[in-house]
Amino acid sequence: MKIKLTLISFLILHSSFFIHSEAQSLSTVEKKIIEHVKTNMPQTEKLLIDAVNINSGTLNHEGVRQVGQLFRKEFDVMGFTTEWVNLPDSLNRAGHLVAYRKGNKGKKLFLIGHLDTVFEKSMTPNPFTRLNDSTATGQGVNDMKGGDVMVIAALKALHAQGLLEDTSITIYFTGDEESAGKPTSISRKDFIERAKQCDIALAYETAVSFDIAATARRGASGWELITHGKTGHSSGVFNKNMGYGAIYEAARILDEFRESLSQEKFLTFNPGVIVGGTEVNYDPAQAKGTSVGKTNIVAQKVVVTGDLRFISEAQKEAARTKMREIVSKNLNATTAEIKFSDGIPAMEPTEANNNLLTILDKTSQDMGLGPVKAGDPGSRGAGDISYIAQYVACLDGLGASGRGAHAPGETINLKEYPALTQRTALLIYRLTR
Ligand SMILES: [Zn+2]
Repeated sequence: MKIKLTLISFLILHSSFFIHSEAQSLSTVEKKIIEHVKTNMPQTEKLLIDAVNINSGTLNHEGVRQVGQLFRKEFDVMGFTTEWVNLPDSLNRAGHLVAYRKGNKGKKLFLIGHLDTVFEKSMTPNPFTRLNDSTATGQGVNDMKGGDVMVIAALKALHAQGLLEDTSITIYFTGDEESAGKPTSISRKDFIERAKQCDIALAYETAVSFDIAATARRGASGWELITHGKTGHSSGVFNKNMGYGAIYEAARILDEFRESLSQEKFLTFNPGVIVGGTEVNYDPAQAKGTSVGKTNIVAQKVVVTGDLRFISEAQKEAARTKMREIVSKNLNATTAEIKFSDGIPAMEPTEANNNLLTILDKTSQDMGLGPVKAGDPGSRGAGDISYIAQYVACLDGLGASGRGAHAPGETINLKEYPALTQRTALLIYRLTR
């Protein structure tokens, strides 16, 4: 192995996960790709440190653009065409970074990352810090600057051998994944249009573990339930004229939701807020409500808001139908209505996604890294890939592994990072032949 020892960092020397050129079932070219990732790990880590140390909370537009600029330079050097996609001012978001090249070789890839983090500038900073030889902390270090940098390092390894030539690869790093600009029909319009021109989407959100990838993610949507009842002295509750009041009606509905739908696999619906009484105000924008009522007055109105998470459009629609049916069977002298709102669609567990997992699994095994299986969709929230899952084959959770995403002190697993990067470089190589 011709490696300048001066370039090898502490990280490399102590990483048990590096793949050595002796691995079987790999071609000479593939072994070279792996070596390139390995020798360039110090530069890769430097880029990760630089990215993590720029605050890019979703609302810190300047920070999001700065991280975009840092990455943009990397794509420019590799000969990608790069663009910054601006969004209308009304969306109050920084925009997105796109890099692409067009050719005729292999599958057309769409690689997904995001530049923003949940950590806004007003929050306590957490600069990149090595905690020990296998762990580092920093804002967005695994969600998902680690994944972004992994994509760049993998592409560099291909570029070094001229393997990007004549390939079709689009890299799309959104600037508002953690809090998408509304409406998403605008903030994700360009993202969806570009993805539609590709065959395969790979997303580099946090890896659950080394041997798990996501072939499905649940979608998320919302609902609002409003019940009305007659009001009057509490002594009249239950009687024919007064009826049951708005609170009993809301309680009936919520309990029937739970009784009839809570056992369905991958389906969840959570009432997050309930406000009830004689006078009720609820402001969804602020997620704040007030109510006035008395123990001796039958409640007149209840507002409940909640979410609904699902694995497929069919499951979502079936659940909504059932919920509407429950809502319509009003208790005496009450009325109720429910409104549903769409959020992020589901990434359904399709055959195409499973076929893609098979290719990743084979790549992993050829490298001597063991099998990769599909993760539990119930364990993941929705992500950017969900907007395009109906158009292309998809895999997610291919990024950095670590712990505590979205919490202060989130960490990256530096031992697994080099091998995950090597694996992704080979996957991209194989898909683009
Ligand atoms: Zn993320």
